[in-house]
Amino acid sequence: MRKKTTPPEAPAGPPADSAEVMRRLATAMPSPQCELEHKDAWTLLVATILSAQSTDRTVNAVTPLLFEKWPTPEHLAAAPREEVEAVVHRTGFFRNKAKAIQGASLAIAERHGGEVPRDMVSLVQLPGVARKTANVVLGVAFRVAEGIVVDTHVMRVAQRLGLSAAKVAEKVEHDLCAALPREQWIDGGHRLLLLGRYVCLARSPACQDCPLSEICPSRQGAALGTVEQRCAATGALVASRGGAGGARPGS
Ligand code: SF4
Repeated sequence: MRKKTTPPEAPAGPPADSAEVMRRLATAMPSPQCELEHKDAWTLLVATILSAQSTDRTVNAVTPLLFEKWPTPEHLAAAPREEVEAVVHRTGFFRNKAKAIQGASLAIAERHGGEVPRDMVSLVQLPGVARKTANVVLGVAFRVAEGIVVDTHVMRVAQRLGLSAAKVAEKVEHDLCAALPREQWIDGGHRLLLLGRYVCLARSPACQDCPLSEICPSRQGAALGTVEQRCAATGALVASRGGAGGARPGS
């Protein structure tokens, strides 16, 4: 059985080499996938709004019925509010979320001809859409690197790696954008998120199994096996949950 570790208070050494972080995570997760099921930019936008304070699994259980009942921004915007609330109820904060997804859909229908805008300025003007949601849509749906998605997982991993000491998402995003080349902002950011979700857990990070163990200033305990073995195991773990294309064979 793996030894349990306690979360580090603060990095005990200099920041991890960000290029090496990216290299190892790319080996572990060559094709990071968005775990929110979606068909296009609009369904991704709605799913991302619903995912706040919820899990991707819960959102994925809700959205098929939502988009079956109201398949376009126009349909959803015109739906009775109580019916939308009932469908999204289990994602939590259902009143605010129903209002947000209908408001965003109405704005998309009326101001953008039914198409999700492809720029940050327009996206964050949509009701219920903040920078994190906009970064998800731009990166996943359009492959536009305007920033890095920073959620609670990315924030925690960035702090533990010493890549940011900031406590608010916007500042962490700023620090990560400075640390990583723009071509890493989409997939590299996504890999940090998946590492935080499945390995660098808030209460008991699996440092012994982490691909970044030797280079992480917050590591607790010695790493097990080789880097290659930990990359492969991490890739398999994440892929089993639907979040990555798995480690390259032999890498
Ligand atoms: S070694 Fe990995 S799991 Fe442990 S704190 Fe660092 S990044 Fe997180």
